[in-house]
Amino acid sequence: MGKVIGIDLGTTNSCVAVLEGGQPVVIPNLEGGRTTPSIVGFTRNGERLVGQLAKRQAVTNAEHTISSIKRFIGRRWDDTSEERERVSYRVARGRDETVNVVARGSAGESVEYTPQEVSARILQKLKADAEAYLGEPVVQAVITVPAYFTDAQRQATKDSGTIAGLQVMRIINEPTAAALAYGLDKQDQTQKILVFDLGGGTFDVSVLELGGGIFEVLATAGNNHLGGDDFDDRIVRWLIKEFQKENGIDLSSDKIALQRLKEAAEKGKIELSSTVSTSLNLPFITADATGPKHLDSTLTRACFEELCTDLIEGTIAPTRQALQDAGLSPSDIERVLLVGGSSRIPAVREAIRRFMGKDPDRSVNPDEAVALGAAIQAGVLGGEVKNVLLLDITPLSLGIETLGGMFTKMIERNTTIPTSRTQHYSTATDGQTSVEINVLQGERAMAMDNMTLGVFQLTGLPPAPRGVPQIEVSFEIDANGILNVTARDKGTGHEQSITIVNSGGLGPDEVERMRIEAEQYAETDQRRRELAELVNQADTLLYSCEKTLQQNRERVAADLALRIETDGAGLKDALSMNDPQLIRLKMDKLHQTLLDIGVAIYEYSTAQTTRAAAPGTASGAVE
Ligand code: ADP
Ligand code: MG
Repeated sequence: MGKVIGIDLGTTNSCVAVLEGGQPVVIPNLEGGRTTPSIVGFTRNGERLVGQLAKRQAVTNAEHTISSIKRFIGRRWDDTSEERERVSYRVARGRDETVNVVARGSAGESVEYTPQEVSARILQKLKADAEAYLGEPVVQAVITVPAYFTDAQRQATKDSGTIAGLQVMRIINEPTAAALAYGLDKQDQTQKILVFDLGGGTFDVSVLELGGGIFEVLATAGNNHLGGDDFDDRIVRWLIKEFQKENGIDLSSDKIALQRLKEAAEKGKIELSSTVSTSLNLPFITADATGPKHLDSTLTRACFEELCTDLIEGTIAPTRQALQDAGLSPSDIERVLLVGGSSRIPAVREAIRRFMGKDPDRSVNPDEAVALGAAIQAGVLGGEVKNVLLLDITPLSLGIETLGGMFTKMIERNTTIPTSRTQHYSTATDGQTSVEINVLQGERAMAMDNMTLGVFQLTGLPPAPRGVPQIEVSFEIDANGILNVTARDKGTGHEQSITIVNSGGLGPDEVERMRIEAEQYAETDQRRRELAELVNQADTLLYSCEKTLQQNRERVAADLALRIETDGAGLKDALSMNDPQLIRLKMDKLHQTLLDIGVAIYEYSTAQTTRAAAPGTASGAVE
């Protein structure tokens, strides 16, 4: 068996590593870089460029250069309107409403690619570079994804690997990989660490506990709209304003000027991580009647930090959230690992240092830790690394829709994976012969406020009174974080299942939105949940009243039967008004009447029994 490589398939940059003599090492690319820009370019003569070469021609060929494709992977069209504005190339609707990109084919015609195919181009280059370095074919890989990636996004990433000719052995979370790179040789003591990953477009934070070879993720949080690009953007806007002040010319509608500004801004930003001032020079940025204009500005670190204050502060809330979810406070954390290129910004380091009350760890390389960790996991799977166990978690709760439109959770968020859970459900009406399983992901109380991952039917149930059939529903999340749901009728052994696939997934910003909404709506949700529960109870009560009456007509006196019908109608009225207090009141009343009926039935049967025992004495009393 050949070597298994570890791949950090980043939004901005990718990195490959492999185990050599038990230690993970980064594989440099053919251009000599240790990371490869995650950019694919389609040139006018049909050439396909990946990495540094694609990045270099981006200014002049923006429309056919694809960057940040990771933002689109495993996403549906309607999740992405905001994303589309951030990218320069054209995006189109795929057959199943997924997002595709339009690039130029070899004959100059428009060609549509799925995000999986574009990602596969990047993976292909990484694979080829690894093969050149190792001098042997590479087939197997471990690929990392953000902890926040949903099911569909993980599947799509796996598919990209397959398209690139790789056998994807495992998908692991980026922060977990970074923790592996940090903790491989520190397994003797148990410690809690926080991984802070600020990349080009996204921010992820995870809290883990390591020790004795076990890497357990305790909680994870983040913001999928926060990264280095936002810092660049602030500089670009500042440059435009400065230029306008000086020359009275607005550069913001000039596409090529904008692309040059963006490049200069990123360069300046990176320089400001090691110097306190940087000069931004763009000769011939534009021209007017008086001749060519040059941009020449000086940006100080202090000014840069002021432009980005809210972005820097924005990293703290998710950090606090992750700690809170893990039930920890900053002082419980022994190490803070900074990962991702943007964690090099001094003000970002300072903000996290202040919040955590300790200096961040310096032992991991922010650009390489994730790939190195992936290589370690590859070594674990290949048997080269022993005694390491990864315990990852699921980022959002999973469950099904139940009676009254409620969301019943099967697996809570932050549950360690792989995991499985089985629960029993039943039918809601008499003679029901099929049930619909609506698989949902989210934190809200009602099904409709969460995201449907998939729906399937379990049919062929033998007709039976409601509540009698026993339907066993099992949720199973594998080590890659991919969900499989099965429903089985215990009576007939009939079974149906689905694996959640590409098209139905949630976008990461949807995950974020849902988390935020869940917090905001906690109170309303609680009320709606109570109402739904109440309605279900009322429904059950009405049902048992009807049944009782039906089966015991002759045993119940006419006035009592009338009472139960009137009270039942009263409850139905209350239900139609959706008034919880009134429903409760009417339910109590009906319940009391039902108890009275019970008493009457018992009295009747006692009388019958007595009569049976001593027919001579009691008969007169009853008839
Ligand atoms: P991703 O994980 O999204 O692929 P990376 O971790 O490679 O991203 O981070 C890329 C981002 O880091 C870019 O926005 C880049 O400008 C920024 N970056 C890289 N080096 C530095 C630095 N020294 N100072 C500030 N930002 C940096
Ligand atoms: Mg990254």
